[in-house]
Amino acid sequence: MQSVKKGDRVKVIAGEDRGKMGKVLRVYPERDRVLVEGTNIVTKHQRPTQTVREPGIIQRESPIHMSNVRLVCPDCGVPTRVGSAVVDGAKQRKCRKGGATFA
Ligand SMILES: [Zn+2]
Repeated sequence: MQSVKKGDRVKVIAGEDRGKMGKVLRVYPERDRVLVEGTNIVTKHQRPTQTVREPGIIQRESPIHMSNVRLVCPDCGVPTRVGSAVVDGAKQRKCRKGGATFA
């Protein structure tokens, strides 16, 4: 089961951005990577194109490996590993710290 989903809050636990928290903007399941708001910022030099008229430097997030983030549990608010549980016949994620379940 996918442990991190779009819209989750996660904490970065490894790499340059260790300790940062942010919202998951996108998940790339086939690459085991996630795009997290405000982390792994790369600077790109934008050249003028037909759609972008203003050249300049743009900064944007780039995806980081899933193993470098931990879900921040929406229930207890701490970074946690995610387990799974079946609630009313539906598979849910489960906080390994507090035991809360969520979609
Ligand atoms: Zn929890």
